[in-house]
Order: sequence, then C-alpha cells, then structure tokens
Amino acid sequence: MSVDPSRRIVVIGGGITGLAAAHRLVEKSQTANQSVEIVLLEASGRVGGVFGTEQIGDYTIETGADSFITNKPGGIELAKRLGMEDRLISPNKEFQRSLILHRGETVVTPVGFNLLAPSQVWPMLKTPLLSPLGKARMAAEYFVPRKQNEEDESLASFVRRRFGQEMLDRIVQPMVGGIYTSDPESLSLKATLPRFVEMERKYGSLIKGLRKKSKKEKQSKQASGARYGLFATPEAGMSDLLNTLLAAIQDRVQVRLNTKVTSLSNNENGYSLDFEGGETIEASAVVLALPTYRSAELLSSISQELSDTLKQIEYASSAILVSGHSLANIEHPLNAFGLVIPHIENRKILAVSFLSRKFPQRAPEGKAILRTFIGGAMQPEEIEKSDEQVIETALSELKAILGVSGTPEFTRLVRYNRAMPQFSVGHLERLATIRELASQFPKIGLAGNGYEGVGIPDCITSGEVAANSVWGSVQIG
Ligand SMILES: Cc1cc2nc3c(=O)[nH]c(=O)nc-3n(C[C@H](O)[C@H](O)[C@H](O)COP(=O)(O)OP(=O)(O)OC[C@H]3O[C@@H](n4cnc5c(N)ncnc54)[C@H](O)[C@@H]3O)c2cc1C
Repeated sequence: MSVDPSRRIVVIGGGITGLAAAHRLVEKSQTANQSVEIVLLEASGRVGGVFGTEQIGDYTIETGADSFITNKPGGIELAKRLGMEDRLISPNKEFQRSLILHRGETVVTPVGFNLLAPSQVWPMLKTPLLSPLGKARMAAEYFVPRKQNEEDESLASFVRRRFGQEMLDRIVQPMVGGIYTSDPESLSLKATLPRFVEMERKYGSLIKGLRKKSKKEKQSKQASGARYGLFATPEAGMSDLLNTLLAAIQDRVQVRLNTKVTSLSNNENGYSLDFEGGETIEASAVVLALPTYRSAELLSSISQELSDTLKQIEYASSAILVSGHSLANIEHPLNAFGLVIPHIENRKILAVSFLSRKFPQRAPEGKAILRTFIGGAMQPEEIEKSDEQVIETALSELKAILGVSGTPEFTRLVRYNRAMPQFSVGHLERLATIRELASQFPKIGLAGNGYEGVGIPDCITSGEVAANSVWGSVQIG
C-alpha cells in the first residue's frame, strides 16, 4: 500500500461493531472534509461476523441475531442515518408472548413479567410456574429490605434474596439464560440489568418499582404513538442492515477480507500490523472491533497489563440449529415467539425461538422456522459432539417438547465458538480498569460485545464511540 500511513486508520474486525466504526469514520471524514484512508480488515471471507441471513428455498432464515432492541439508540439511529428506517418491521403482535417449560409442559410467561420481576401480582398468583409456597415467597418481595451496600452481586443472588429460589429456578434462570447463555450464579447484575439495582435502591421493592414504571409507560405510549415495538428488524432480514452499511462505506473504505491480523506493535508513525501470510501495513490509529480475548492477543506487545485484564472477560460457546417444518408436523400451536427451558428441567437444549411466528413473512404458508439454541455456559458438553449428533439431539428434544415429527424440510447448524461474553460479577470494575489502561493509548479504540453490552445496538454504539475517540486523537491536516 502506497498511501501515507499518517493518514490511515485501520479497523480490525468486520462484524457489526467494525462496520459501524468504519461508517462513523467515513461520517467524520466527510464532515471534516478531510481525506483519510480507512481500511477494514476481516479475517474470514465475509463481513457480518455473527450475522447470517440465508435464503433456503422459500424460507428466509437467520443463523445469528434476528432483531434488535429499539429502546437503546444504536440500531435505530444507524438505520435512520442509512435511510433504511422504512424497511424496519416489528415482530407480529399476535404471538407476542413467551413460553417456559414447566415439568415437561409449555406455560405462558405471566403477563407483565419483566425479565427478573413481575409488574402485576395477579398473573403471578395464577401461574402454574410457581408452587403456593413459591408464590408466597415471591409476593413477600414487597417487604424484603433494600441491600445495604453498593457491591456488585450475581443475578442469582439478587433474585434469591428478593424473590426466592423457586422464582430463580423456574422463571428467571431460563429467561436470562436465553439472552446471555450464561450461568446466573456468575452473571453480574450491575453489568447486565442495572435498572433493577436502581429500582431496588429507589423504591425498596421491584414489584412496586415495576408497577409505577408500567403505569408511566402506558401513559407515554398513548401520548407518543410509538412507531416501533421493543424489537425491530429489516423486513428482508438482518443482512439488509449489513449490506446497506457496506454500500454506504464502500467508496470510502478499503474492505479486505481473508485478512487476519496476527500482531500489532508501536512504530514511529503509530502502529504496525502484521497479517497472516506475511504482509505488514502501518497506520496512525487502530480500532480493534473484536472479541476481548482477540484484542488481548494483539495488544500483548503494547501493554501486557491491558492484555491480561482483557483476557479476564470470558466467552461462552453455543450452537444454533435452524430448521424448517410443515406446521402439520408440529403438535404444539407455537402460540408465542419462543420457549425457554429451565436448567432444572434437565433437557439438552436451552431455548427455541419460533422465527416464523415473530416474522411470518420469513416462511412459506403452512410452514414454520424453529431456531433451537444449544450449549452456552450451563451446558457446554452438548456442543462437544459431532454436527450429526448435535442435530439428532436437538430434533429429538423438539419432538419430545413440542411434538415436532417427520423429517425437517431443511436443517442448518451453526456453531458460535466463544462468541457470547459472560459479564461476570465485577465486570464493571474490570471494564473501568480496561478503559483506564487503554486511555494511555488514545490512538487505539477498543470496541465490541465484551465491554458495555452484547446486543447489536450496544455493539454499534461501541464501534461509533471508538471511532470518535481515535478520530479525535489523530491529528489529520
Ligand atoms: C446466535 C446468536 C444470536 C444473537 N441474537 C441477537 C439478537 O437477536 N439481537 C441482538 O441484539 N444481539 C444478538 N446477538 C448478539 C450480537 O449479535 C453480537 O454481540 C454482535 O453481532 C457481535 O458483533 P461484533 O462485531 O462485536 O463481533 P463479531 O460478530 O464476532 O465480529 C468480529 C469479527 O472480527 C473478525 N476477526 C476476529 N479476529 C480477527 C483478526 N485477528 N483479524 C481480523 N479480523 C478478525 C471475525 O472474523 C469477525 O468477523 C446474538 C449472538 C449470537 C451468537
């Protein structure tokens, strides 16, 4: 490459985080009217990382994320700037509920249940998910005193303390496990669901806090006539977001696929990057849009301490089996967006998402798309098997739980090796140390799903913030 390296900014990693960072750099250079070379380096043969929309016959499937949350600005704001807001849809309201497996039967999650806590007591009293004793303990939350210190605690400890063990085992563990594929005994409450910490502090009771909040939300929804539900996705699938992002940057960013960065070191112009295969390039600033353990490898020659702290963030592995079925071959009515499975049910799958109930246009008439999640921090042994065995186990679980029979019209198994960060207790302190250590290297930006949040809006924001920060630190004139 012949361009002056003092005018080159490199983004390593072509997942949604890296693409959002590159896009923000393009926006910055356009606003400042400065010519700067932006290079995006991606180890694999495609951008998108864990995104994966695929067309299989008349089915449009997602092998990674299927939608993003709209109450965090990252995704929606980017879609607006890309001019694709009109192509976003929300999940079909008809099936807007989730199911929990309970002693082998699927039970609808009580109305008003909000991840950790109920906002309405009556549906909780009626639900078969808790025993009479479990319900009494749950209702006693109103009177459980506030925590007396500010220390972080695990999600399991918090739920046990406020609502009791049964509520943890039967409702909260599967719901939260379905999102983070984590063990709630180690998951940090402050890092994952800080609003509940705040609610306890403010109201003394989560039931009280949620009831107040849901009243307020009802009023503000009526006033604003919100355009979206809580989740949105491009009508054509998540890859539309990727492709639109790629199209927006392609004239200004050099995207290099099959380019794995193997080391990063200081030099007089900034940084020197070695690729697998022997090539080297220089750059004045670098955004590492990678899982934290990958950034740790690259940063070891720059700061061992930063590298060691990044390594402390653990990642879990999982797999997803996407399968297509004739509805006639499924006994269960699939009257929900999906099903989560408590660990104590002793099944071999974590959750099943009914993609074609959320987004009916993705499957042909009379057909269904199921996404079965396997592995995670609590069942790692389930993915230490061959693809054939994982598929066989998942299909036999679908048969036992949902009455899915016959041969699926297609199956697609995708493994995610160390893709899901585990925000364990103390994550925020570790993050503060990382940010403090990284501040000594203002021309390096750290972004990705291992820092402030796992979801797509968090990743987008993290890429944009890292891009802003390296842009601000590089004197381009
Ligand atoms: C199965 C699954 C379902 C999910 N569902 C949702 C959902 O519905 N909604 C939601 O909001 N979130 C969801 N998430 C989370 C979200 O999708 C991810 O957190 C997010 O996409 C991560 O993006 P990323 O760019 O940070 O990382 P990645 O997608 O992992 O991208 C990192 C990229 O860096 C590349 N790379 C790695 N090392 C190097 C190197 N040395 N040199 C060059 N390139 C390198 C990799 O090849 C990869 O392409 C889901 C995650 C999974 C695994």
